[in-house]
Amino acid sequence: MDLSYILNELGEERGTYLNSVVPPIFESSIFCFDSFAGLREGLKDELETPFYTRGHNPTVTILRRKLAALESAEDCLVFASGSAAVAAAILPEVGAGDHVVCVQKPYSWTGVLLDRFLRRFGVDTTFVDGRDTDAVARAMEARTKVLVLESPNSITFELQDIERCAALARERGITTVCDNSYATPLNQRPLEQGVDVVVHSASKYLNGHSDVVAGVLCSSRERVRRVFEGPFMTLGGIVGPFEAWLMLRGLRTLPVRLERIAQTTGKVVEFLAGQPGVERIHYPQHHSHPQRDLARDSLSGGNGLFSVELAAKDIQGIERFCDALKRFLIACSWGGYESLVYPMAALADSENYKKSRTLPWNLVRFSIGLEEPEVLIEDLQQALERLS
Ligand SMILES: *Cc1c(COP(=O)(O)O)cnc(C)c1O
Repeated sequence: MDLSYILNELGEERGTYLNSVVPPIFESSIFCFDSFAGLREGLKDELETPFYTRGHNPTVTILRRKLAALESAEDCLVFASGSAAVAAAILPEVGAGDHVVCVQKPYSWTGVLLDRFLRRFGVDTTFVDGRDTDAVARAMEARTKVLVLESPNSITFELQDIERCAALARERGITTVCDNSYATPLNQRPLEQGVDVVVHSASKYLNGHSDVVAGVLCSSRERVRRVFEGPFMTLGGIVGPFEAWLMLRGLRTLPVRLERIAQTTGKVVEFLAGQPGVERIHYPQHHSHPQRDLARDSLSGGNGLFSVELAAKDIQGIERFCDALKRFLIACSWGGYESLVYPMAALADSENYKKSRTLPWNLVRFSIGLEEPEVLIEDLQQALERLS
């Protein structure tokens, strides 16, 4: 893949905007036509013609071209959030009486969409341990329309054998959707493994600067058209031109950010693994991960997201640890330039957490940013002393 061509050139037409090196933000809701005939022609294709920004915006279109190329997809749509992209991938495939198979610990709002929202419309979901491909096969029924994968998921880092799962679905005429937010297209390209639709929360590594919430859906031209004419245009959860422009900027440094983050994370994980305050590490690239071989085969690199079970006696120990950290922010989400901790123990009062998850109370998720590894390790060292 000619990565620098995709990130620096593809989709950009400098000659049409005064040779500006950086593309402009087309902050316009509408685009006008020279003539009646021009309008008539433009109306034939609202996805590819500057007409109305819900359907097409030139800044967003540059981003679509780049993201599609990164995922080896024919086409791509960008949404107001990752959750909008997940919903848009599933909705066109199901109606009352249909059935979905989903991995057991998906992103929390993906779980809510399937478990609560879609059930009201007569769509049932079976959640299954995706590490067990036979269990995935057994969960598929004659009425199953969609298989939802997330490999790995973003809190416990369970992987699926994407290729085998997608093949099982294809034999049965089931559409496979894979959330690829964790790996990014640089480390995993599920469409090449037989998946039909790839979705991303671009709020994480793709944008990478904690200043945008956005989502991405990549698929064949035909499927993207179906999503465009369905949930994209009817629900209208589009990304704005300014957010698309910020994402174009964020994307340019994706390879260097990920490389640096993976290096730092390797050092931080090695440090934590040797600490008495750490009971268990969940990181696909660490030798203790139960699916280490599958991770090696399916992911071409690591990143900065992992979680740790801390040897605390009680929630107060976790609290002292988090509060002692000086270089990590206490926050949700991940994939930015800054390091974060997200302790499950603090979620005890959240309704969604209580309903959708059973996670170890002593689990703390880390997102490693672009700081110097020594700075982070030193900070962790002093905070671990506050555990007991
Ligand atoms: C954050 C996240 C989402 C949702 O994306 P938003 O942009 O927050 O709507 C979906 N899947 C995964 C794996 C995520 O981490």
